[in-house]
Amino acid sequence: MKRLILLAALVGVGALSLAAAQPPAAPAGPRVIDILKLKDTLYVLTTSTPGNPATFSGGNVAVFITDGGVTLVDTKLNGWGQAALDKIKSVTDKPITTIINTHTHGDHTGNNGFFGANVEVVAHENTKTNMEKMDAFKGEGAKFLPKKTYKDKLTVGAGKDRIDLYYFGAGHTNGDTFVVFPALRVLHTGDMFAWKDAPFCDRTNGGSCVELPRTLQKAIAGIKNVDTIIPGHSPMQTPKDLQDFQRFTADLASHAVNSMKAGKSVDEATAAFKVDKYPGYKNERVKAAVQAVYDELKK
Ligand SMILES: [Zn+2]
Repeated sequence: MKRLILLAALVGVGALSLAAAQPPAAPAGPRVIDILKLKDTLYVLTTSTPGNPATFSGGNVAVFITDGGVTLVDTKLNGWGQAALDKIKSVTDKPITTIINTHTHGDHTGNNGFFGANVEVVAHENTKTNMEKMDAFKGEGAKFLPKKTYKDKLTVGAGKDRIDLYYFGAGHTNGDTFVVFPALRVLHTGDMFAWKDAPFCDRTNGGSCVELPRTLQKAIAGIKNVDTIIPGHSPMQTPKDLQDFQRFTADLASHAVNSMKAGKSVDEATAAFKVDKYPGYKNERVKAAVQAVYDELKK
């Protein structure tokens, strides 16, 4: 009997640790995405804040309604396609004809397949290369890869329907597009400006926290006549917010570089970086960014 109880306890512990190793369960309730109207022809599919897996649908998606059809900037997490389409259908009957992927990550490219192989997918050439390494875009999935790519700048459409795509260099990845709707004075930054915290620099996809502030500086200098910014994962921002974020990332990068030169550990460098002078900023992602700088400089 004792042995049985012991066995049961062991099995129980095994089951518990197995459960702990599982990814969080899929959201139980209906998947609902919120929609925000920016202009008569431009909406944002929000519900983009990471943290709660029941409500996090992936990055902010721009829904741009043109004469020829709807252009989406990013496509959220896999599994959220129908919820996204339901909201798009609530504001337009036009078909989705174009997808612009700001970068490779699954919370921005997860429903390219859902929206169909007849949609034209556009991205920076490095993002296409990064997407080719993802399971979702291998085999049958390859038909949902970008067909149109560019190197520095690309313009799609004309007049009020015009969209400008810019690449300024490495940062969050090595293929981040800044998407501008000139007639509406709106910029979608993707995850080059995701939140008011340290940036995530994905070194496996060519990201660089050392280059990111310089890349942002080029974007600020190169993109004019914008009033509203759609960030990657937070509420709408202004050009002033983007400038503040650029300064934050420049401060953080130089702090990390100097700390490493001074022989400080990542923990010491992280503890010494104060976000107080940046109102509304968090420091939850500072350590990872400092680590990314250290890893990059060690190379
Ligand atoms: Zn990302």
